Amino acid sequence: MPPSAPPKDRLRLAVQKSGRLATDSLDLLARCGIKVKTPKEKLLLHAGNFPIDLLFVRDDDIPQLVMDGVCDLGIVGTNVLEETALQRRTDGDGDGYELARTLEFGGCRLAIALPEERTYAGPADLAGLRIATSYPQLTKRFLAEKGVAAEVVVLSGSVEIAPRLGLAEAICDLVATGSTLEANQLRAVETVFRSSAVLIRAARELNPVKAHALELLLRRIDGVQLAAEAKYIMLHAPKSALPEIRKLLPGAENPTLLPLAGDESRVALHAVCQEAVFWETMESLKRAGASSILVLPIEKMML
Ligand code: ATP
Ligand code: ZN
Repeated sequence: MPPSAPPKDRLRLAVQKSGRLATDSLDLLARCGIKVKTPKEKLLLHAGNFPIDLLFVRDDDIPQLVMDGVCDLGIVGTNVLEETALQRRTDGDGDGYELARTLEFGGCRLAIALPEERTYAGPADLAGLRIATSYPQLTKRFLAEKGVAAEVVVLSGSVEIAPRLGLAEAICDLVATGSTLEANQLRAVETVFRSSAVLIRAARELNPVKAHALELLLRRIDGVQLAAEAKYIMLHAPKSALPEIRKLLPGAENPTLLPLAGDESRVALHAVCQEAVFWETMESLKRAGASSILVLPIEKMML
């Protein structure tokens, strides 16, 4: 059993123990300078260099742990978060949490899928079907919004085999690439919910020590996420070509211009590009007169 209340001076963050969010969650924390030893056998781990403890649990438990105040923070998919919040509202339990940050991983969608041979023209074709899912609340909400009466069959796993077992005519399940659906001769026909991983925090106020630690953590997450796409670009250019070259640089404000030793007509330009720099951009820069173009990754950023 997890300890009941987080300590006064350390944040407690719930993360998935193993699964699709586990590695990305720990990677993000590592890039924020928060390192823990490989979890696996331990439920609760203290970070040595940051006032935070990590609780390793099943992703389904994360919203509850935050909403019940057992953890200050949690990293979870919005699919699980929204499903839990709807369920708790239905059950009359509190569902208080705040979205702290949307994270750049765990992207997937909850989709209704039908056997490939079944024709589909719109939501009305779902009427009267049995739809197997692990997300009854999100599925029912979608059906209600579309005004469709269908039966929702709750399964905790292996939802994709329900039609073959004769348990349901349709499923509502998570899809990323669609390969699992294809392998089961199913095709997605409706998107019910778009999901990504998020960092949530308990709705209650934190004491100043923890509030400060959270502020620091959020700033680091912003720094990591800003840097993920950003590139540092360096090039040489004739002074006369600078206006055109600056227009070609994606999301680069105020580049640094440096003189080139022994060359009056050209300068070195350094800039942070907030967006990805593609080969096409580099080719356009070259055509505009740039040379010695270097594009470097940025590890961290603080604005
Ligand atoms: P646990 O043992 O923690 O309950 P699980 O089997 O429920 O794990 P995973 O398959 O690891 O869950 O998925 C965890 C979360 O990862 C999902 O709830 C979703 O937010 C996200 N996710 C991202 N891509 C996918 C995908 N292709 N299929 C399923 N989930 C995905
Ligand atoms: Zn789960």
